[in-house]
Parts: sequence; C-alpha cells; structure tokens
Amino acid sequence: MFEPLTQRRYLLSFKAAKLPQQITDVLVIGGGVAGLRAAIAAAEQGVDVLILTKDTIDQSNTWYAQGGIAAVLQPRDSIDAHVRDTLEVGVGLCDEKAVRVVVEEGPRRVLELLQWGARFDKKEGNPYDLAFGLEGGHSFARILHAYGDATGKELATTLINTVRGRETVRISEHSFVIDLLTDNERCVGALALIDGQITVIWARRTIIASGGAGQLYRESTNPKIATADGHAMAYRAGAAVRDMEMVQFHPTTLYVAGSSRALITEAVRGEGAYLIDRTGYRFMQDYHPMGELAPRDVVSRAIVEQIRKTNYTHVYLDVRHLPTQQFRERFPQLARLVDQFEIDITKQPIPIHPATHYMIGGITADELGRSTLEGLYAIGEASCSGLHGANRLASNSLLEGLAFGARAGKDAARAARESDLQFPLKIEHQIPPSSKTELDIADVKSSLRSVMWRNVGIERTGERLAETREIIAFWSRYVMDKTFNIAELGKEATIAGWELQNMLTACFLLTTAAYKRTESRGAHYRLDHPQRDDAKWRLHLQWRRPAEEPERCVIRDP
Ligand SMILES: Cc1cc2nc3c(=O)[nH]c(=O)nc-3n(C[C@H](O)[C@H](O)[C@H](O)COP(=O)(O)OP(=O)(O)OC[C@H]3O[C@@H](n4cnc5c(N)ncnc54)[C@H](O)[C@@H]3O)c2cc1C
Repeated sequence: MFEPLTQRRYLLSFKAAKLPQQITDVLVIGGGVAGLRAAIAAAEQGVDVLILTKDTIDQSNTWYAQGGIAAVLQPRDSIDAHVRDTLEVGVGLCDEKAVRVVVEEGPRRVLELLQWGARFDKKEGNPYDLAFGLEGGHSFARILHAYGDATGKELATTLINTVRGRETVRISEHSFVIDLLTDNERCVGALALIDGQITVIWARRTIIASGGAGQLYRESTNPKIATADGHAMAYRAGAAVRDMEMVQFHPTTLYVAGSSRALITEAVRGEGAYLIDRTGYRFMQDYHPMGELAPRDVVSRAIVEQIRKTNYTHVYLDVRHLPTQQFRERFPQLARLVDQFEIDITKQPIPIHPATHYMIGGITADELGRSTLEGLYAIGEASCSGLHGANRLASNSLLEGLAFGARAGKDAARAARESDLQFPLKIEHQIPPSSKTELDIADVKSSLRSVMWRNVGIERTGERLAETREIIAFWSRYVMDKTFNIAELGKEATIAGWELQNMLTACFLLTTAAYKRTESRGAHYRLDHPQRDDAKWRLHLQWRRPAEEPERCVIRDP
C-alpha cells in the first residue's frame, strides 16, 4: 500500500476580506491559444474578461509551436478521414464526440484566423492558396504552417492583436495564479500574485487555460512556464483530472550541453533527414518498416535503445545529403538555431535526444470545456477533453485550443450573465507554521525533474514507478507543509516554491497512474507490460480529491 500524498486545500493562509479585490465576469488563467480564443469568444458576448499570465504573454507553449495546425480545408480531404486518423493514434482512449467537435469546427476556426490577419504559408492552386503539409499519422496533407516553422508565434500574435481590440478584455501579465477559490463546491475565482500583492479575483466563471507540464521532466521542449500549475490547483479545488500517465515525448530535440532542448520538427524527417548513431549507422530500419517516419513514440524508444546500445549520450539527425538552401528556407528557425551553435549542417550531423513534449492528461472537461467543478472550465493543454486519447496526433493541439477555447468562452459568458453570485464572499484558510526543516527549492525541483526523466519517461517499469512514488511522497512531506512568504523570500523564490508544490502534486498523480496502468498503450510504455490490454484497460484513470484511489471510467463507443 502506498503512502498518500501530503496535500492541503490551499497553498497559503488568507482571509479574502483583508486582501485587495477585483471582480470580473470571466477569469481566464493563461494567454496561449486556448485562453486567448476563449477571451475573444467571451468578449463577443459583451461580458468583462480578465486574462492572467504568469510571465509575459509571449511565454507559452503556443508561442513556440513550430510544425503547424491541422484542418480539413481541401475538397478531397474529409472530416471522417481526420476523425479516423485522430482515433487511430489515440488507441482506444479518445472520446469520439470530442474528436468530432474539434475536427468539424476546425476549418471555421482556421478561416476566422485568416480574417483576423494570420499569414499562413501559401502555394498557388490550393483552396485559399494555402500550402498544406503532411505529418506523421495524417492520411492527407492538411497541416498549415506559417513562416516555415514559426506557426505558433503567428497564431499567438494574431490572437493577441485581436484580443487587444476588444474593449471588455483586460490582460494582466506577470500575474501568478496560486489557487482557485471555492465556496459550496463551486469555483468563484482565484487567488493571484499581482503587482507583488496577493489579490482576490472574484469571477462568475473561471477558465483554466494554463497549458502543459513539460517542466516536470529534466528534458523538455516546453518553456519555463509549463509547471502544471493548472492541473494541481484544479485538483486541490476538487475538480477531476484524468489520463495523467499519458505524456508525449518528442524524439528529436537539439542536444547541446547547456542549451535549452529546442525542438526539431518532425517535418525535417519528412523532408528526408536520417537518424544515425555515433558510428554513423542509420538505425531506424532496425526498429520499424517506416524508418525515420515511424510514429513518434516508436522513434523515441528506438533512439533510447540505440543510445543504450552505443553507450553514448545522444544520436544525430543527418541533413548533409539535403539541398542546403532549400532546407534553410523551409526551416528558418532551425537554421538560425544550428548557426548559433556553429553546427555546419553541410558537414556535421545535428546532435539530438528525445524530450518531454506534450501533456495529454489533464483536467476532465466536457464538450463545452466544463470541468466537473461548478463554475470552472478547462481548455487547451491543461485539459483532458478526450481528443487525444492515449496519444496526440501531430498538429491537433493548436486546433483543440481554438475549438474548445471558442466553445468554453461563449458558454462561460452565457453562464456568467445568468449567474446570481454576489461578491465578496467570506472565504479564509489557516495553515499552521511548518515544523520541518528549511527547504532548498531549486535543489528539490532539479532532483524531481531528474528522477521523473529517469523513471517515469519514455520507458517505465512497475518497480521504478513504485520507487519514484515513494521518493515523491517523501519530498512532499517536507515541501507541502511549507508556506512561502514574499516579504521573507522575495517574489521569485516564492513563485518557485508554489511551482514546486504544484509539480509534486502533478508528478504524484502522473507516477501513480503510470504505475497502476499495467499495459502499454499510446504514449505510455511499460517494459514489464509491453502489450495493450483492451479487456482490462480500455478506460480512463480519473482522480478526484480527497479520494486516494482513482475512479476507473470505462469508455463507451458512440
Ligand atoms: C516546442 C513546441 C512545439 C509545438 N509544436 C506544435 C505544433 O506544431 N502543432 C500543434 O498543434 N501543437 C504544437 N505544440 C503543442 C502546442 O503548442 C500546445 O499544446 C498549445 O499551444 C497549448 O496551448 P494552451 O493555450 O493550452 O497553453 P500555453 O500556450 O502553454 O499557454 C499557457 C498560458 O498559461 C499561463 N499560466 C500557466 N500557469 C499559470 C499560473 N499559475 N498563473 C497564471 N498564468 C499561468 C502561461 O503564462 C501561458 O500564458 C508544440 C509545443 C511546443 C512546446
């Protein structure tokens, strides 16, 4: 029997009445694709919207997205084909209703981006003269990109400009949301650190769009903001989270000591790049008939295996045989990146390694983005809408953010208008002082990320998962009983402390779910249970505080 996680309802002591207060109709936590699209939809209904982002608005997974956005926009493509591709990659865990929502609404969401000024790459002769690319898992070339490999930045810029044109929307950057406020099992807003002060935001409806969890791992493509804050605060507040064991790893990120793990898009392999090991051997044919174009999880595992076989730290992506100028034009961001590290791609292969990329699991949400907690919505990477199932089809996540963002924003605005909530409410929470030792936040964070990468990464075993859970429970005992005080620690260390507490909660759920799922499916691979087991495991593991065991939600086909 495992030790339960040390867990409190709130991360800090407070009396709402004594704190600075703000009121809004709709609070949006996060300014990536999902949050921005939700804010636009809510503002269109005439309600007040407040967007909070923990860093500047350009620090999001959205901003760094490279490859593209998938949508059915060509006459020979079909909704059914995109749905089928998504279901196939999700290996039995997708919710077909959610898949249809995203795929059917996708074209409309993309066309409105064009109206708002997005400049996707063009090629004459296609509908709207757009250039469509093909990516792994898609049966049709339906991926739009912008400036070659800067799709996310173009999308984010377009949405930010559109939001800034709406009078009823306010954006507050550098505003860290600590916890959701609940009253009678209903979400009524959040506590946030704004301008150095803990502030109460009363909201008739709250939308979590706080993105992913890549920072739970040492190797990650995600920016620093991705510390699973939304997952953890929703869990603390009593909302259900599910499929937490499902984490997607990307096979090819730049591996240069000291640099961030910059992603090298799949499209590079699509253009003909080879994967070679330290001896120059092209190894992918040994692992899969599709070679370098095998599914992401297969390529990631093959790289790990080849690294082990060659007793080395990484492998290489070889583009020496490709036409250099064409390559630089198609992948300008990548070309700039290799230049920075003085890697001459005409003479040297690019050092690469897999890294954590996308959090598939998240806050359980329905077809309007509503969580299981009244008043709270969850969208984008922080949510688990059922679109991705056990694995994510490439270029489906930006589309998910747009589709569910638009739906949740509209519904939240409607519900906020009809709401009879009266603010302020009397909410307070008291935490006794910690009796445990002082804490080196940076050290625990770094150890946690390392142990997650080693034991809860691409290949997992029951033994290692159980051991990791014990380690997390042990760290939690002295991290979770702390409160962090800005006056004592300063803003940066205080936020780092809250992030660490959120990370421990998310890691605990992720590791426990990975331990419990004794099969391999999609992104979850167990060396000790390498087969898929539909009879036993075609279900979601769903967690809801204060229960210590997950609910098992069986999937019913429509
Ligand atoms: C390198 C890279 C490449 C990718 N390429 C693609 C691609 O080609 N196609 C594709 O479909 N997907 C791609 N993805 C995935 C995709 O970018 C993300 O899944 C998607 O952008 C998530 O959007 P989001 O709005 O849910 O979250 P994000 O864009 O991550 O935004 C999260 C927001 O929440 C805020 N936030 C977080 N915590 C707090 C807090 N405590 N308080 C206040 N604010 C908070 C952040 O400040 C940020 O504004 C890629 C991801 C990465 C990292």
